[in-house]
Amino acid sequence: MNIFARLKFADIHSHQAIKEGFVSSIKQGRIAHAQMFIGREGNGALGLAVAYAQYASCLDRGEHDSCGICSSCIKYQNLVHPDLHFSFPIYGADVNCDEFINDFRTALLADPLLTINSWFTSLNAENKKPNIPIKECRNIIRKLALKPYESEFKVLIIWLPEYLGKEGNVLLKLLEEPPANTLFILVTENQESILSTIISRTQFTRIPSYSYEEINQYLVEKNFANIDLARNAALMAEGNLSKAIQLSSEIENPQFDDFRQWLLDCYQGNVSKIISDMDAYTDKGKEGLKLFLNYGVHLLRSSLLVRHRPENNKLTESELEFANKLSKFIHIGNISQIYDGFNKAIFEIDRNGSVKLILINLSLKLKNCLRMPEPYKTN
Ligand SMILES: [Zn+2]
Repeated sequence: MNIFARLKFADIHSHQAIKEGFVSSIKQGRIAHAQMFIGREGNGALGLAVAYAQYASCLDRGEHDSCGICSSCIKYQNLVHPDLHFSFPIYGADVNCDEFINDFRTALLADPLLTINSWFTSLNAENKKPNIPIKECRNIIRKLALKPYESEFKVLIIWLPEYLGKEGNVLLKLLEEPPANTLFILVTENQESILSTIISRTQFTRIPSYSYEEINQYLVEKNFANIDLARNAALMAEGNLSKAIQLSSEIENPQFDDFRQWLLDCYQGNVSKIISDMDAYTDKGKEGLKLFLNYGVHLLRSSLLVRHRPENNKLTESELEFANKLSKFIHIGNISQIYDGFNKAIFEIDRNGSVKLILINLSLKLKNCLRMPEPYKTN
């Protein structure tokens, strides 16, 4: 399974039956135009909504998943497809979601299990009141009145419509008679607080919370925790995978020192040092090396967010200190190349490529990426 924040079906943990149901209905052209995904926080529903829309829009659909390489998928995977729109809770009254969209894309790509708390923490807005204001509702109506740019249809994912309040009424007409070629997906954690008039106009899919076994398996496979710790975290998380990851990160990861040293060597272009340390990496074995690289991605991804969310970062103290330094070198201009480099390395290790060569190639790639300047830098 791909560990990176690409949001194909394969990237969303578990939920096999639901994915199969989605795939089969899309293949048969049975796409309800107003849908609601209902379930509790940390269940992967927002990621599923993106995966659903990506599959429906894919130009070369596979049997079980979108192709990941057509022009539509590539834009979907960076959440920049011109026919993919998001509405989500923000703060302030006279604002719309377009003003927050870059932050939202970054937050969701870094954490597909985004929660309202982690989203607001990433905005440095922990004390602000989340809402989807009337200005955003008007923005939605305006956007959906336009024709699709590239796809057969436009997609609007409304994450946490429970924050719409009374303003949601202006959307009712849209949901009742959606403009041609429009797909609404509402992703809610609390259907009781949504206007019943909105609920009655949508087709439901219930997204269950993760089971204890699913959480346990995820934590161990992704190297968030060893077996003992994963068991405890899975028990305490009560089906919330996001919470489980946070709980399990409260102890130091044994990979940390090795990874920090390796990344410093990469940045300095110290290839001879990397080669002379090679035994330490190859001794980890194929599976150990994959865990090492997986852990690295987790740390790099956290570094991308750490500038904005110093408090809710799922890192230990020494990881946080390192991530703070690293965050100056990780940005929207290089993160996807870095992810691709790790992905390729893990793939090649799986195919029994030469570990030495794979690591040297990745090291050189990282050296180049980490030295790229940050584009569109703002304060
Ligand atoms: Zn595709």
